[in-house]
Amino acid sequence: MIQTENTAIVLRHVDYRDNDRMVTLFSPSRGRIDAVIRNCRKPRSHNLNAGELFALGDYMLYESGGRTTVTSVRLTETFYTLRENYERLTCGTYLLSVTEAVVEPEQERQELFMLLLHTLSRLAFSDQPWRPLLAGFLLHFAAAEGFKPRLNHCVACGRSLEEGPFFFDLEEGGVLCAACREAKRQSGEPGEKDRVSLAPQQLRWMREALGRGSAAWLDTPESYAPLPLLRRYVEGRLGRRIRSAALLPE
Ligand SMILES: [Zn+2]
Repeated sequence: MIQTENTAIVLRHVDYRDNDRMVTLFSPSRGRIDAVIRNCRKPRSHNLNAGELFALGDYMLYESGGRTTVTSVRLTETFYTLRENYERLTCGTYLLSVTEAVVEPEQERQELFMLLLHTLSRLAFSDQPWRPLLAGFLLHFAAAEGFKPRLNHCVACGRSLEEGPFFFDLEEGGVLCAACREAKRQSGEPGEKDRVSLAPQQLRWMREALGRGSAAWLDTPESYAPLPLLRRYVEGRLGRRIRSAALLPE
């Protein structure tokens, strides 16, 4: 048996037996941890809030025979205000689902953890609109996962991108100049529906948000965040259904 204390956030939970709950925790130093919280659904349990989505704290874990049990929790944040606004709650749940799709056990993910916490904090405690927050998260998420979109040169001809119109090639993961897009279209190259038009302001927004780094992007002016494009790009790369994606408003 091993007993350890881990800072972590709850990404997902499933009720189990009468009063127990299985949780998927995300620890910045250990990645994904699946654990049981016993009796947390009893009304007077002192672990009542520890098994809720977004619960962030120091989880004391007891590991034995391949099973991990949460023995006690010191909560530092519950992001409770998210529950007061349906759209922000849905957005927050989506952030958890996207994160859950990539975290693996015993894998250090400090940068992704901080990206998630920074975004959740703004979502819960500021009045910044959720769409650009989500767009910025997805952009930095793509960078952290190794598929940062290429935004400075045309992915086909390599010319630097000065004047529009521009197109984003979802398959290539970067921007196409109008000439290359037209050449591909005329030659009947497959993937036409994955080459989508990108306004110059949207390209500028993505460059700026990426250029500011994984925390300062939160203050990027928000008008031109291309959220539908970034959702298609990231969800396509993850190659699996994201839980809660269907609930997110357009
Ligand atoms: Zn080109």
